[in-house]
Amino acid sequence: MTRETKYYDILGVDPSASEGELKKAYRKLALKYHPDKNPEAGDKFKEISHAYEILSDSEKRQMYDQYGEEGLNGQGGMGGMDAEDLFSQLFGGGLFGGGGGGRSRGPQGPRRGKDMVHHLKVSLEDLYKGKTTKLALQKHVLCSKCEGKGGKEGAVRSCGGCNGQGVRITVRQMGPMMQQFQQACPECRGQGEIINEKDRCKQCVGKKIVGEKKILEVFIDKGMKNGQNITFSGEGDQAPNIIPGDIIITLDEKPHNTFQRNGDDLVYEAKIELLTALAGGQFVIPHLDDRALLVSVLPGEAIQPGMVKVIPNEGMPSYRHQTHGHLFVKFSIDFPQSNWADEETIAKLNAILPTRSPLPSFGNKHVDEVVLADATGYQSQRGGHAHYEDEEEDEGQPGVQCAQS
Ligand SMILES: [Zn+2]
Ligand SMILES: [Zn+2]
Repeated sequence: MTRETKYYDILGVDPSASEGELKKAYRKLALKYHPDKNPEAGDKFKEISHAYEILSDSEKRQMYDQYGEEGLNGQGGMGGMDAEDLFSQLFGGGLFGGGGGGRSRGPQGPRRGKDMVHHLKVSLEDLYKGKTTKLALQKHVLCSKCEGKGGKEGAVRSCGGCNGQGVRITVRQMGPMMQQFQQACPECRGQGEIINEKDRCKQCVGKKIVGEKKILEVFIDKGMKNGQNITFSGEGDQAPNIIPGDIIITLDEKPHNTFQRNGDDLVYEAKIELLTALAGGQFVIPHLDDRALLVSVLPGEAIQPGMVKVIPNEGMPSYRHQTHGHLFVKFSIDFPQSNWADEETIAKLNAILPTRSPLPSFGNKHVDEVVLADATGYQSQRGGHAHYEDEEEDEGQPGVQCAQS
């Protein structure tokens, strides 16, 4: 049985070649026959890549050496790894493309344009009730006069200087490495084609695209959230040989004066009077739609500062569901001003309110009796920082230097 050497022949190496020699041979040939450089070479690039794919895999190479192409058992077909993928895996994707050459990817079809992202500020009310809003945007569309050709039929010629690629690639040997250089074609200024000045489309001056104002109707659905996207597929900028990207509207929820949102729940801070807290009463929460909630505190409920209660199902509508979150009410209590009550009233309070707990026993401790003064104007004797918001700024603060430092 004669040994098959086709793959070695394709790479131009001896069947005894080392891994390094194989790689070097592949690199040299791949650069030479890459379709970006050598479009006439046909399937040569694929053949080279396929041969290298087999021989660079020690298991596959062994099978091939022993049994030839048949031994690869179906793996020998032209399937396997994509030649482009193999190439970019070895040489890094940045070698071709990138760099603003603007070439389309040829065999993979037209490129997709960039998505355009816009931020839309929305109030919590809009997110609660839902809303349709109009948004005006500036975008590029293909010129209608020349249908995106840039000039009269036949006026556009492919650039001879770069074979219509828009870029020129030069390969240079740098020591053991082959280095690629890519530059925009000077003849067509990277466009890949040339239009005579007199044949240029008057409307777009040969640019193929024109600016257009686009009005989008943005439907904000009930219960949408901060950061949620609304996508208009294919509404992005148009350009020749490009599939337009999307316009993406990102919702930015504006902070609300009275409600905080927590997922589908809402949090409301209610300040009620001491009497309401103790003896019951009502207060009002203006809601995010046109309703107001009249809330009853039951007599004897004894609402405490910081207490949290809930009004079920009065939170945000949940997106695309028929349910609502809950409305949490966090209480603060509006106490009466100092000295609000006369002796008679105090006596009544003593009779009405729950009795005082007895003082703890002092044991054999010495007891000093003291009274409370208003804290306004007093400072901490330690940190040197003003502890009370209404305290006056005192430059220098001689009395409060930290004794420890
Ligand atoms: Zn035009
Ligand atoms: Zn050119």
